[in-house]
Amino acid sequence: MARPDEFTFAPLGGVGEIGMNLSIYGLGNRHQRSWLAVDLGVSFGDEEHLPGIDLIMPDVRFLEKEKKNLVGLVLTHAHEDHFGAIIDLWPKLGCPIYATKFSASLFAAKLAAERTTLKIPITEVPSGGTIDLGPFSVEFIPVAHSIPESHALAIRTSVGTVLHTGDWKIDPTPVVGPPTDEARLRQLGDEGVLALIGDSTNAVRDGRSPSEAEVAVSLAGLIKSAKGRVAVTTFASNVGRIRAVADAAKAAGREVVLVGRAMDRVAQVARETGHLDGVQSFRGPEYYGHFPPDKVLALCTGSQGEPRAALARIAKDDHPEITLNKGDCVIFSSRTIPGNEKSVGSIINGLVTQGIDVITDRDHLVHVSGHPRRDELREMISWVRPQLLIPVHGEALHLNEHAKLARQMGVPKVMTCRNGNLIRLGPGDPAVIDQLPSGRLYKDGTILEQDTSRAVVERRKMAFAGCAFVALALTETGELADDPEVDLVGMPENNTAGEPLEDIVFDAVVSTVEGLPRARRRDPDAVAESVRRTVRSIVQAEWGKKPLCTVHVLTV
Ligand SMILES: [Zn+2]
Ligand SMILES: [Zn+2]
Repeated sequence: MARPDEFTFAPLGGVGEIGMNLSIYGLGNRHQRSWLAVDLGVSFGDEEHLPGIDLIMPDVRFLEKEKKNLVGLVLTHAHEDHFGAIIDLWPKLGCPIYATKFSASLFAAKLAAERTTLKIPITEVPSGGTIDLGPFSVEFIPVAHSIPESHALAIRTSVGTVLHTGDWKIDPTPVVGPPTDEARLRQLGDEGVLALIGDSTNAVRDGRSPSEAEVAVSLAGLIKSAKGRVAVTTFASNVGRIRAVADAAKAAGREVVLVGRAMDRVAQVARETGHLDGVQSFRGPEYYGHFPPDKVLALCTGSQGEPRAALARIAKDDHPEITLNKGDCVIFSSRTIPGNEKSVGSIINGLVTQGIDVITDRDHLVHVSGHPRRDELREMISWVRPQLLIPVHGEALHLNEHAKLARQMGVPKVMTCRNGNLIRLGPGDPAVIDQLPSGRLYKDGTILEQDTSRAVVERRKMAFAGCAFVALALTETGELADDPEVDLVGMPENNTAGEPLEDIVFDAVVSTVEGLPRARRRDPDAVAESVRRTVRSIVQAEWGKKPLCTVHVLTV
């Protein structure tokens, strides 16, 4: 007798962290499953812990192995934490990709900006539409979020239906696009939902997230009352915010100048897909200087303090076209993502020092989150009435709070999980039935590396304590053929007594080699190891830090 089909779910990224979302759904049994992937996003590295790593991506080893059973990749929306890894990882998977128009167009624009000849086709699905992919039927249900065309996915199978919420909030007036489709979600609840896999980002925050329309009103007031030049920075992908700023500028008689490539790209895609219909046309930065200060507004990238983005350059007075003076105003219509506080802080301080008025969400309603707070989570649960709820898209605390809230709401089964857990959603009681290979990949320059790679560990050590290079040549009988070469990189020149560290290390190297028994001196590896230990400990004694040390021994 054939085994009954199971409906399974596994997060391969995005659980226990905010970023690099990748979820997979399986239908079949332990011998043969079809897989559907949802989203393929990145996380951003932070300089201190991961020097030189800009992007972190989910390890897709498992999907690569199951490639022939992978029916497709479906995108909920076009935020980097949901679609930023496609260009790097899709070549390993080669599956069809499905998304609605805005996400597909933004992806095409992003791909075109890369120096690649890679062709990655995305099949467009209408918002509200349904596609059949192998044993899965996937319906794109519109939800409000901080980018156009975010969708919850209703994934229907012979075993039952899952609602994968993606990123969402309940915003009755989202400025761009329709509000969250409550009626459709209620209908889904009436049909019966086996499991809700849901956004936990704001599960620790009480109440409801304010509406984008409230932010628009607040921005309009601030821009109207500004006397000098105004610069606004926001996430380029937040088209609702771009629209709110543009409308506020128009009401205040100001032209909008777009500054930064990401802003140009999103604005262009938003125009093409109708999300900026009726909005005044934007101008390039070259026009900025043509208008009187109270007739212009610069909309800039760089809200996270990115050093190469427009705002950082403006703050340093290093932008070829955009300048600000005492009495001008900069509005941060954004939230500082944890890890970026220092860079954003230094930009704000730079602006304040120049006498520029800085407005942030600390003092005015100039930003709202795109994720649901607790009352919104409760509402979603009451519409969908799932048998099982699994919190995702959050750190441990967020997942746990979402789970507790679901239990309080009387959801019959609530499960928390980790990346790599393969969970049977049904039939029968939900359970973790396997552990799939999962992990993180680092984008290091142009190379993708496992997170166990030595490169980052060594760079971190080097950043902290430098590196000592020693080269020495030994004769056949084990005598030093010449003076050893010593190079200390990233270390102070002298110790506290003023003696050159290089001389101290040199003497230590010579006496170590000469002090080794003759038999040992004929073994270059043994010599290298002894010298390495000596160098590290002598530098520690002199400096209080242990550097990396590389020793080359040649026999002549
Ligand atoms: Zn997200
Ligand atoms: Zn998002």
